[in-house]
Amino acid sequence: MVSVDGHRQAAPGELERVRELLNTWLVPNDTRVPTDNLAEFCAARGLGTAEADTIRALRDDLRSVIEQPADAEGLLADWSASTALRPVLSQGRLAFAHDGGLAAELLAAVFSAAAAGRLRRLKACPDCRWVFYDHTRNGRKRWCLMYAGGPEGRACGTIAKVRTYRQRHPGTA
Ligand SMILES: [Zn+2]
Repeated sequence: MVSVDGHRQAAPGELERVRELLNTWLVPNDTRVPTDNLAEFCAARGLGTAEADTIRALRDDLRSVIEQPADAEGLLADWSASTALRPVLSQGRLAFAHDGGLAAELLAAVFSAAAAGRLRRLKACPDCRWVFYDHTRNGRKRWCLMYAGGPEGRACGTIAKVRTYRQRHPGTA
């Protein structure tokens, strides 16, 4: 996995664990073939088959939450019900209690990020689908900074940027 800005795309706190899960499904820029690394993710955490199935479903739903925000409300309501997630006050701050398990921990991280206004900064690149955290001041970053095979490779967003340039400068090749 090649990234030129690995450290600058990490999400704050527990939300980074969510980002790690989301990026177990990706479309590498060099092959452009969708790849699923969830089995390794679950094996590294010692998860059994049943829990791995839950984590896969959670990953796919959280990807929908991020890529199609219109679906977010219903999906998150279902998951908060199935993991018995409940809001609590912890030392005067909003937190999310649950009955344990990785899915519940990750979901609590998602809700905490939403409560802090951070969830909208977790974005999937519309080109390669890589999930990154947008640290820009205005929060309007669209593309990741992935390159295939170094600087000579194809950068995400390049095609769209060229199209925009040509629309603004008709007559250029
Ligand atoms: Zn990308």
